[in-house]
Amino acid sequence: MEHASRIQQLLDNKKKIFTDLNDEVWEYAEPRFAEYKSAAAHCRVMEAQGFRVKQGLAGEETAFIAEYGSGKPVIAILGEYDALAGLSQQADITEEMPVVEGGQGHGCGHNTLGAAGAAAITALKDYMEENNLPGTIRFYGCPAEENAGGKAFLVRDGLFNDVDICLAYHPSNMNLADQGGSLANFRVFYTFKGTSSHAASAPHMGRSALDACELMNVGCNYMREHMIPEARVHYAYTNVGGTAPNVVQCDAQLLYAMRAPTVTQVKELYDRLEKIAKGAAMMTETEVTIRQVAAYANTIANDVINERYEAYLEKFLPLDYTEEEMEYLRKFYALVPDTAKRSLARTAEKLFGRTEKAKEVANSPIWNFLYRTPVGSTGGKGSNDVGDVSWVCPTSIVRTACYASGTTGHHWTKTAQGKSSVCHKGMLLAAAVMACTAVDFLTSPELIAQARENWLDRLGGETYPNPLPADCKPEIW
Ligand SMILES: [Zn+2]
Ligand SMILES: [Zn+2]
Repeated sequence: MEHASRIQQLLDNKKKIFTDLNDEVWEYAEPRFAEYKSAAAHCRVMEAQGFRVKQGLAGEETAFIAEYGSGKPVIAILGEYDALAGLSQQADITEEMPVVEGGQGHGCGHNTLGAAGAAAITALKDYMEENNLPGTIRFYGCPAEENAGGKAFLVRDGLFNDVDICLAYHPSNMNLADQGGSLANFRVFYTFKGTSSHAASAPHMGRSALDACELMNVGCNYMREHMIPEARVHYAYTNVGGTAPNVVQCDAQLLYAMRAPTVTQVKELYDRLEKIAKGAAMMTETEVTIRQVAAYANTIANDVINERYEAYLEKFLPLDYTEEEMEYLRKFYALVPDTAKRSLARTAEKLFGRTEKAKEVANSPIWNFLYRTPVGSTGGKGSNDVGDVSWVCPTSIVRTACYASGTTGHHWTKTAQGKSSVCHKGMLLAAAVMACTAVDFLTSPELIAQARENWLDRLGGETYPNPLPADCKPEIW
């Protein structure tokens, strides 16, 4: 642990580079697979810091690897920088006010995610240089986490095959080591093709693709009763066949998202929905084409990495916030809906019992302490493409508090707080925790062996069930 204060100094020397990177990428707010300026900004910083940078990987133009050192072990840190559609919002403003009407915004904080990784790998490199430490360190610039699962393509193409330990991060409202458990998820298009005709004068000549979509959804909704309760299936019409009721719709399309705790369970849902789609096509005498465009594997956390994350979070917390920062946080905490506040109160009570402390924490606009999540507890019902990486090497996600307590993900209030000094502090805390954790693994083959053993144990004999079809390419769909 003696390296912790040196890592903090090294980070402190260069912190402006990374808080600037955080803010620059926030401004670009580019969506999946179009993060050209955001990826270039990261590459520019990495090159200036002396990393070997390779851009364009696995068919993803906006992916990159920044590498330093040589030989074993290989320690990876992950970065992301994609924004979300419809979440454009002016910084620091407590009412909904987009920068660009209908534009993209960093409503999941991936500007901070990328900057934290870049800061961590730079501090790690500086520390390795000072101490002549052997090994390879790699920063993976990963595009399109949102709605495309960009990492699954990088994993499929073998880019993580030689990695010993992988450290990941997500900005959050709390400081914790993530216990994994995000759901596996497939995205699949069902495109129906029929025959158009005059709906009144020649209905018998028409074969409706819209009918097929509706029958497919009815089939799916009957299937719900007979699937595991943890599974989730959602659909959207991406083509309803036009707006004219007097034309039999000959083209229509659905996009399905199907989720379950493991990839194997999602594959089972996929197979059942394929039968339902084909059944709908048969009933309507239409044709269906099925195209899977993305997949996320479930995340397997690593107890050995998490133990190191928690040790460093404990060391560095609590952070110092100024009165202005507390005022800023209170302003955003005031926007949190009552249902979310009640859920925070329940969590605080679980942690501190029915005490004054629990009340104080529940009403605090920032949770400025380590939240120890029980080992084996599962995460939310979302999906994360870090999951794919976690199937091929020991991986874990650390989270740090960057926003007012209770701030909703994928919401304009998160975009609004993405350039604040509170967010910068959370980002630098994550960088310190990841860099310190990486030093532990770089200098201890035993620790790597323990993490590997824990990983194999959690896999329980399974190997990566590559969820992407061989012909599936990274694309904007
Ligand atoms: Zn997200
Ligand atoms: Zn995210």
